[in-house]
Amino acid sequence: MSETQCSRSESDNLLENSDSLKKPHITGSCLCGEVQYECVDNFKAFHFCHCHQCQKISGGAHVANLFLPDTDLSWVAGSENIQRYDVPGRHISNAFCTQCGSSVPYRTQSGPYFIVPAGLLESAPTSCKPQDNIFWDERVSWYEEGLTTTKYPGMPED
Ligand SMILES: [Zn+2]
Ligand SMILES: [Zn+2]
Repeated sequence: MSETQCSRSESDNLLENSDSLKKPHITGSCLCGEVQYECVDNFKAFHFCHCHQCQKISGGAHVANLFLPDTDLSWVAGSENIQRYDVPGRHISNAFCTQCGSSVPYRTQSGPYFIVPAGLLESAPTSCKPQDNIFWDERVSWYEEGLTTTKYPGMPED
């Protein structure tokens, strides 16, 4: 997993230093609601990862992972319900709610960051936009074909 920084201008950094306490916060929770947390909207990277491990972790085509300095996340409830699995020999992990199985944030093995699954957040982050698709060569063979199919606003009617 790359930790490439989102591009930021000099003025962004000045603003960050003077206004860090005023940065908005975003809450997140798992499917069952047992695990709840709050993030400072101070994300540093946002990758869609298509690697084989992330396919297994998500059960889908890719994950959408935000990187957040570890001091910018606080647990609100349910952190005792989190189980972590570190892939042997790799810097890849999964953490999930033991009640509902949703992926939840976890600390990276290599650095002082939380990896935050973007789909758990209650609102969209403003500090970082999706920046790339990594491990593109490992994407599922049906990925691009799926993107071209008919879009329905909800469940299609029979
Ligand atoms: Zn849960
Ligand atoms: Zn991956």
